[in-house]
Amino acid sequence: MDAIQLIDEEKHFSQDALSFFSQCTGQDDQDIGLNYHVISVFGSQSSGKSTLLNILFNTTFDTMDAQVKRQQTTKGIWLAHTKEVNTTQSPKATTSDIFVLDVEGSDGSERGEDQDFERKAALFAIAVSEVLIVNMWEQQIGLYQGNNMGLLKTVFEVNLSLFGTKKNDHKVLLLFVIRDHVGVTPMSSLSESLTNELEKVWSDLNKPEGTEETSLYDFFDLKFVGLGHKLLQNEKFIEDVKKMGDSFINKDDTANCYFKPNYHHMLPLEGWSMYAENCWEQIEHNKDLDLPTQQILVARFKTEEILNEAFNSFMIDYNDSISVVINDKTKLITFLQDLKKKCLREYDNHANRYNRIVYEEKRKELLEKITEQYEDTIGTFLEDLSTDLLSQLEAEVSSKKSTKDSFKKRLTESSNIVLEQFTQTVKLFQSAELLGDSQEILEAFKERTNDKSKGLRQKALKLLLTRLNKTISATIKDETIHLLSNPEVDLWDQIILRFEETISVNLERFEIDQTTSEGNDTTKIFDFQLGLSEQENSDAYKKICQAAWSTLQTIVHDYLKEDTVVSILRERFDNKFRYDENDAPRLWKNEEEIDKAFAIAKEHALEVFTVLSLAKTTDNIEVVPDISMSEEEYEDEEGGYHIDRFAHLFNELQKEKILKQFRRQINLTVLDSKRSIITTTTH
Ligand code: GDP
Ligand code: MG
Repeated sequence: MDAIQLIDEEKHFSQDALSFFSQCTGQDDQDIGLNYHVISVFGSQSSGKSTLLNILFNTTFDTMDAQVKRQQTTKGIWLAHTKEVNTTQSPKATTSDIFVLDVEGSDGSERGEDQDFERKAALFAIAVSEVLIVNMWEQQIGLYQGNNMGLLKTVFEVNLSLFGTKKNDHKVLLLFVIRDHVGVTPMSSLSESLTNELEKVWSDLNKPEGTEETSLYDFFDLKFVGLGHKLLQNEKFIEDVKKMGDSFINKDDTANCYFKPNYHHMLPLEGWSMYAENCWEQIEHNKDLDLPTQQILVARFKTEEILNEAFNSFMIDYNDSISVVINDKTKLITFLQDLKKKCLREYDNHANRYNRIVYEEKRKELLEKITEQYEDTIGTFLEDLSTDLLSQLEAEVSSKKSTKDSFKKRLTESSNIVLEQFTQTVKLFQSAELLGDSQEILEAFKERTNDKSKGLRQKALKLLLTRLNKTISATIKDETIHLLSNPEVDLWDQIILRFEETISVNLERFEIDQTTSEGNDTTKIFDFQLGLSEQENSDAYKKICQAAWSTLQTIVHDYLKEDTVVSILRERFDNKFRYDENDAPRLWKNEEEIDKAFAIAKEHALEVFTVLSLAKTTDNIEVVPDISMSEEEYEDEEGGYHIDRFAHLFNELQKEKILKQFRRQINLTVLDSKRSIITTTTH
C-alpha cells in the first residue's frame, strides 16, 4: 500500500490516518496491541533517505529517481506501513507491523519557515518513534557546517525539554547510517568521531534547570552502520542494506537488534494515531509537549472508549435476555455471572495494553457499573421474592387446614421458613460474587416480615375480638333485657353477676394463672394465643371488657326509657292489684278493700323504682364499670350520658315525670275498679 502524507505541507495532521491504520491492519488494529514498531528517518535533502527506506522495507516513498524531473519530492511527513523487511535471508522477510515515517524537509540551504518545520518534524519523530535513522554522507562527518549536527543539537534540546526530568527508562535509538561509505576510513573511527561530536554537542547544550547533570546516554542509544556506494558498489550497497534488515527482524539477537522494549511507547496501536495527532497538535501550537501526560490522556480516552463499548454490548445482551431469566434464580445467577465475565474479558482484551494504572482504574469503573446494574436487577428479583414470600406467609397462616396448631405457632414457623428462604437466596447471589454486603437487605426483609406478622396478628386479633364481642354482647343483651323487664330488688346484683359470668365463660380458654413475684399468690392474665405481648394481651382483654360494658350501658339506657319504666311499674302494680296469690282476677266487694289493695300494690311497684332509676346493688353500691373506658368510648356515646355516671339512669325531673305518669295510670285503675263495684250493685 502506498504511503500517505501524515502531516502535509500546511502542517495539518491527516484525517485519513485512522482509515490508513485499519486498512494496513485488516480492520482489526486492536488485535495488534503493542506488537508494532515505529521508525523515522531524517537527514539532509536528497541524501537518499527514501531510496534506503524503499529498499529496506519494501515501501513506496517517492524518490527523486521516480520523479520525471529532478525536482523536490512533496514536503511533509510521510507514513508507510510494512510487514516485509529486506534481509540476507529473504528480500521480503515477514515481520511484525512496522510503521515508517519519512521526513521530507527542504534543502539545508533554505532558512526561516523551513527550519521551523525541520524542528517540529524532529520533535514529532522523537515523540513517536523507537528508532530514529540519521542519514548522512561520509564526507559530512567532522564538518559541523552543513551536516546534521545542527539538527541533532535541536533534537537533543527538544528531547531534554520533553524527557528532561524523566522517571522511566524510555530511550530512543539513534541509528546513524553513513552513506557512500567506500571504506577508506573504517566505520570504527567514523563512529568514534561521530560519538565525540555528539558528546560535544550534548555538553554545549543549553540545558534547562534540573537537567544539567544528564548524559546523552540517559536518553539515547547510539548505533552506526555504513552502506556501500549505491552507484559505484551497488552489490555491496544492497548487501549492506540487507544486513541492516537483519537487525530489524532478529529480536532474539538482542545485541544487534534495533528494537528494544524500552524504545516502545507502550501504547496499543489503536491508540497510536490519537497519540500522534495529540503530539502534533501540541508541537504545532508550540505548547509544552509532555509525553507521559499525552500517553495517559490517550490511555484514558481509549480505555473509556473500550469500557463504553464493552458496557454497551453488555447492556444489549442484558436487555435481550433478562426477562427470560429474571424469574428463575439459578438461570439468573448463571446469566449474570456469564455476562459479567464476558464484559470484563472484552474490556481486558483491548484495554490491558494501556497504562496499567489507567487500565485498572477504568476496570474498576466498569465493575462498578456492572455491580450497579446488578444491584438493580437483584434488587428487583429480591423485591418480587419478598412479595411472594410474604403472600406465602399470609396464606400459610390464614390457611384453615392447619388450624390444629395455634395461630401463634403457625406464624412463628412460617416466618422462620420465609426468612430462611430469603437468606438462602441472598447467600446464593453472594457466593456467586454478584452481590456485596447483604446486611441491609436482610435487615429490611426481616423488618418487612415483622411488619407483616404484626399485621397478620392484628387482623387475627380483630377477628377474634369481633367474634367474642358478638357472642358476649348477644348474651348480655338477652339476659339483661330479661332481667330488666321483670325487675326485682336485687336487679343489679343479678345483672352484674350475669354480666361477669358471661365475660368469664367466653374468655375461660384464654385464661392463665400467673404466680406473682411475691410468692404463692396467683393472678389471672390472658393470652389470646396470637403471639401478642403481655401488654397487648392485657389491652385486648381491656377492650373486650370495655365493649361489654359499652353494650351493657347501651342496652340498659336504650331499654329503660321513661315510658318503659312506667309500664314496668304499672305491670308490677297490676299484677299485685288485679290478681290474687293464685293469679285469679280479684272481684272487689267494697272501696275499702280496693284502697287497701291499692296501697299494697303501689308500694310493691315502687319497690323497684329505686333500682330502675339508680343502678345500685343490694350492698348499696352504685354500679360503675370496673375498667376505665377509653376516650373514644366517651366520644362514641350519643345519648349524652357518661359512662362513669352509668348508675344514674334518670334525673330528678325524669323521675318526677315517671312517678306522675305512674300515679295517673294507677289512679285510673283504681277509679275503674271502684266504678266496677257501683256497676255491680246497680245491676
Ligand atoms: P531523499 O530526498 O533523501 O529522500 O533522497 P532520495 O531517496 O530521493 O534520493 C535522492 C537522489 O540520491 C536520487 O537521485 C538517488 O538515486 C540518489 N541516491 C540514493 N541513494 C544513494 C546512495 O546511497 N548514494 C548515492 N550516491 N546516491 C544515492
Ligand atoms: Mg525522500
